[in-house]
Amino acid sequence: MQFDIVIAGGGPAGLSLASALGGSGLSVAVVERAPETELADPAFDGREIALTHRSVALLKETGAWDRIPADEIAEMSTARVLNGGSLYAMNFSPASGGPLGHLVANHLIRRAVYQTAIAHDTITLLAGVSVTAVHTTTEGGIVRLSDGRDLSARLVVAADTRFSELRRSQGIPARMHDFGRMMMVCRVEHDLAHDGVATEWFDYGQTIAMLPIKGNCSSFVLTLPAREMEQVMALDDDAFSAEATRRYRERLGRMRLISKRITYPLVGVYAERFVATRFALVGDAAVGMHPVTAHGFNFGLQGADALARRVRAAAAKGGDIAAPALLRAYEREHRLATFPTYAATNATVRLFTDARRPARMLRDVLLRVGNMAAPVRGMITRHLMESGRPKPA
Ligand SMILES: Cc1cc2nc3c(=O)[nH]c(=O)nc-3n(C[C@H](O)[C@H](O)[C@H](O)COP(=O)(O)OP(=O)(O)OC[C@H]3O[C@@H](n4cnc5c(N)ncnc54)[C@H](O)[C@@H]3O)c2cc1C
Repeated sequence: MQFDIVIAGGGPAGLSLASALGGSGLSVAVVERAPETELADPAFDGREIALTHRSVALLKETGAWDRIPADEIAEMSTARVLNGGSLYAMNFSPASGGPLGHLVANHLIRRAVYQTAIAHDTITLLAGVSVTAVHTTTEGGIVRLSDGRDLSARLVVAADTRFSELRRSQGIPARMHDFGRMMMVCRVEHDLAHDGVATEWFDYGQTIAMLPIKGNCSSFVLTLPAREMEQVMALDDDAFSAEATRRYRERLGRMRLISKRITYPLVGVYAERFVATRFALVGDAAVGMHPVTAHGFNFGLQGADALARRVRAAAAKGGDIAAPALLRAYEREHRLATFPTYAATNATVRLFTDARRPARMLRDVLLRVGNMAAPVRGMITRHLMESGRPKPA
């Protein structure tokens, strides 16, 4: 089977890349290990994805945004950061009105990008099979599937999770940072209104994010060392609701669990290269962010757009869609767009989960200085609200 592009991994990044290539005339295969029924109707996985304005614009361009039910999209008016026992908050809110960003459940994004991708007749989805090996030369690539089939392609893209096997098979090293903690996500209903405010509370010994969704409901995101998380996960639903209320100091009144609870290990990953011969990484396979700054999928979409724009332009001119210069330009743009945030996120997490006395004091000082430094806050807020594309690198 011959394709212009084979994408390994039909997660949100792989399917977004496929959709961004739709209508270009290029034949694209997406190979996904999970069965197609799972892609068509993904189960709730606890993640509520905070989307920047640029991500919403990119999802609108491919048509995926319109496939998300409007009443499932929540608006975030303000984001605030709290430290330890203090009620002092650093606030991010748009000066010009309008939401700071949008929150959408990950399974709804996955369903929307699946529907968008399969609507193109140039995109072939091969679900329920894995990519087991990739061999590329300057002439092209061969992708071996678990059912024994071989696909040939001019460009092979790996979008196969932050623990990408294909990245390793191509000899691309990645920096990994295990934060030694687990993140638990679930939905809760609470007595008091959240007013669209998203809160990140770096308490001593725990981190809690409350992300506003519909009505008096929020996504409750708790980060703890693994052993402590095991105890929280062992609680029955009523005991958990009481525990969540206590841990959040009743700031939103009583909380009641209204979904299942799901845990994720916290490991940050940054690939040392994003490209090789006729090969590129997108999504978490390139940049696997700690979720605290809510950038993983936003970067996945941005990277897919940066690669797709170049591939489409080359195809339109009849050029090589995997030319070394094209892949290097993609890599340059995406590294510039992601590395500062990746490094800053990891440094922030390390400091704000360190409860020793000097770190506590520094945390407090940084929050107050950050709050007073209006240009810095303004810059972060503008970055979140920016909807256009960055200038080409
Ligand atoms: C708790 C939590 C909260 C988050 N919140 C946010 C947020 O607010 N904002 C944000 O932008 N991001 C957020 N993220 C990050 C976001 O969820 C990820 O960045 C995104 O899901 C990555 O998509 P992906 O397609 O790269 O990888 P994945 O979702 O991991 O998908 C990879 C796919 O590849 C398939 N696969 C793997 N190996 C193979 C193979 N060999 N052959 C075929 N298929 C294969 C897998 O089955 C899978 O379907 C959050 C993450 C977590 C854990």
